[in-house]
Amino acid sequence: MLQAIETTGQSGTSGGATPIRIRNLTLSFGTTKVLKGIDLDIGAGEFFAFLGPSGSGKSTLLRAIAGFGPRPSGEILLGERNVIGLQPWKRDVGMVFQSYALWPHMTVRQNVAYGLEERRRPAEEIRRRVREALELVGLDAYADRYPSQLSGGQQQRVALARTVVIEPKVLLLDEPLSNLDANLRVQMRQDLLALQRRLGITTIFVTHDQEEANTICDRIAVLSDGVVQQVGEPDHVYDQPANSFVARFLGTAN
Ligand code: ADP
Ligand code: MG
Repeated sequence: MLQAIETTGQSGTSGGATPIRIRNLTLSFGTTKVLKGIDLDIGAGEFFAFLGPSGSGKSTLLRAIAGFGPRPSGEILLGERNVIGLQPWKRDVGMVFQSYALWPHMTVRQNVAYGLEERRRPAEEIRRRVREALELVGLDAYADRYPSQLSGGQQQRVALARTVVIEPKVLLLDEPLSNLDANLRVQMRQDLLALQRRLGITTIFVTHDQEEANTICDRIAVLSDGVVQQVGEPDHVYDQPANSFVARFLGTAN
């Protein structure tokens, strides 16, 4: 299942396939506990999904990995490094949000280049990496357009290019396809999977749509109410739900 990824190893274009270990992660907003002792192991190069109903804590968990939101207790290990308390930009993670948040006054090229300019990379390197990132998402012909001149799917690709261009070690995607119409959503699944395989980058994909998770992810974690209910390969979880919540959520008969 992960073979294509493992052969990429540390030499992947993304700068490495990093395992993620989460230990007894707890997070509260004020007095409300939202993550209640999460333990998870995500393999290097794995395409992993957080699946669960609205309000189950998927985004909060993803944001905690990225370094946004209240400081949790417990551990988040990206490779060997516990990143809790580290600023987001020091974590080598790239995050794509549900709303792509492209800058409307910048062209596609400028949107994708921004993160490299912030990091003060040389102009020639920026040109090359932006070109490569746009080729990767099939948008090299659109470099000089503005976001408003693109379809929703194309805008989503720009958001992806903008994130992968900085070569993060971990890619976090929070319901990245949910703003697209149904047909496009299905097509983008395959594109996303191809991109992930090509980069060999450890990826967490958040969705409330089980079909989406099942068709593209190696393994899923089903969340409810800030607790991981079950982890496994999609078929396994579907065939053998660990409890009645998972069975009901997945709509299985058990
Ligand atoms: P999901 O992404 O699975 O829909 P969230 O992680 O967004 O769920 O939310 C989990 C819980 O945390 C919800 O009960 C939500 O109301 C609460 N929550 C999320 N963000 C905040 C916040 N900034 N302040 C207070 N409560 C929040
Ligand atoms: Mg969410």
